[in-house]
Amino acid sequence: MIRTRFAPSPTGWLHIGSVRTALFSWLYAKNHGGEFLIRIDDTDTSRSTQEYTESIISALENLGLSSDKNIIYQSKRFEIYIDKIEELLNNNFAYYDEIEITEKTKGTDLNIQYDNRLNKPNHVIRFKNQKNKKIIVNDKIHGDINFDPKTFHDVVILRSNGIPTYNLTSVVDDIEFQISHIIRGDDHLSNTAVQINLFNALNPKIPEFAHLPMIHGKDGKRLSKRHGAVDIKYFLDEGYLSEAIINYLARTGWSHGDKEIFSMNELVKLFSLNKVTKSAAIFDYDKLNWLNQYYIKNNSIENIRKMIMPYLKDANITVKDEKYLEKILELGIEREFSLKKIAESLSYYFDENLSYDLELIKKFNTEKMINILDKSIAKFEKTDFSKKENLSNILKYISKELNLKFSEVGPVLRLALTGRLKSPSIDDLSFTLGSNKTLDRLNNFKTLILKLN
Ligand code: GLU
Repeated sequence: MIRTRFAPSPTGWLHIGSVRTALFSWLYAKNHGGEFLIRIDDTDTSRSTQEYTESIISALENLGLSSDKNIIYQSKRFEIYIDKIEELLNNNFAYYDEIEITEKTKGTDLNIQYDNRLNKPNHVIRFKNQKNKKIIVNDKIHGDINFDPKTFHDVVILRSNGIPTYNLTSVVDDIEFQISHIIRGDDHLSNTAVQINLFNALNPKIPEFAHLPMIHGKDGKRLSKRHGAVDIKYFLDEGYLSEAIINYLARTGWSHGDKEIFSMNELVKLFSLNKVTKSAAIFDYDKLNWLNQYYIKNNSIENIRKMIMPYLKDANITVKDEKYLEKILELGIEREFSLKKIAESLSYYFDENLSYDLELIKKFNTEKMINILDKSIAKFEKTDFSKKENLSNILKYISKELNLKFSEVGPVLRLALTGRLKSPSIDDLSFTLGSNKTLDRLNNFKTLILKLN
């Protein structure tokens, strides 16, 4: 049975690169009809928080990357780790080492954080790394990797504060939960040799490894806050659809010909580690935005209406009429790439009193504006708003009768109706707003202009 795991440390929000690791792990398992587990590496009790743990689990669930078994919490397994360290001590694979207080380590907190029978004041326990054979890992992405024994260190497996370290806990858990494939970032390569020796010492079958190349920003440096948002929380809060995030991350360092759009089912069918690139992948925000817009546009308006509600609420927009919202969405969703941005861009449809940018108004000729507004009000008052083509026709007459180009009339009406210079076409806009709102806004805008002069 193929079984993979994703093992985040809840000491921060989940990085988008880690989500890709989780996704590749999940896909590999599912492609082989296997299982995917989530393990929370929360042994560092001083830095791990409940908030981060919950946010990581909920983000993974939102993305459809749930654990097939109960989630494993390392913080609940300390006794098991202590048993295993004792076993290593008894079999002469580990030893106590007195800690030297040097300039560098003098600030270390030596207080006991996990009281256990192996603790000895001012001592750590180290794993006795075998130093005579080189280790060759047949990595499923990088091929054979040779580790030179000269570089093997006797790593600490129990800290002086009583907390077992990652290399030990990870190997103990990978054995106990029968992980067949360890898929993780290649920043862990340096731990792999130590872990293989630990696996050998604890005498199990060694899993297969696949180390994923890192994700870089466009400047070739490791993707970090300097490049933009990197936490999955941001992308979910911003209204990126899970399909878009999954599709984007799947294509970050993996490909299937030129195919760009993949459903989750297609990914499960097509994913293979053979097609993962050996070099770092580049994170392209524009591409992600494009994909998100694609998934929003190709969704049903009804779904988008449901999904956008929390974002509208955050933008202080109260929706009383769902049909009105759907009409607005039909016009508006093409313009922005995230649900949050769409929600914010729609506020003018709902505002009772639009606020206008006075500096913007100053750029227009007052007399011309008043003429346009008077003519439009007179025409719109006599128009039947139930058909959009009536409105399109009226707009033509307004320009014609005023002897103005539509490029002169349009911006004034757009500003009056939305408070902005960018919006859907005026006939679409007034059709959606309806006669009352359209006329109110034109009249209010006219009153404001008269007041300003
Ligand atoms: N908790 C480790 C990390 O977040 C897990 C690494 C691994 O997958 O072994 O980097």
